[in-house]
Amino acid sequence: MPMVVIKELCSGCGACVRACPNQAITLRVKESEVDQERCQDCEECIFVCPNGAITGVSRKH
Ligand code: SF4
Ligand code: SF4
Repeated sequence: MPMVVIKELCSGCGACVRACPNQAITLRVKESEVDQERCQDCEECIFVCPNGAITGVSRKH
């Protein structure tokens, strides 16, 4: 399942952006965002996020 960022928990540190091997995460003004098309579910971003702000969601078809 692709990841999503829980905006309330994201501090905008950018760790997930650097960790993602697919350049699927973009850092916004104060929060990051996952490109659902690029995310390959490797879960690297989950492990590096210091705030537990990234979680998986079911793909919508
Ligand atoms: S799960 Fe992997 S591919 Fe998907 S956003 Fe996180 S680091 Fe990138
Ligand atoms: S690692 Fe977590 S806190 Fe840092 S930018 Fe990514 S989602 Fe936000």
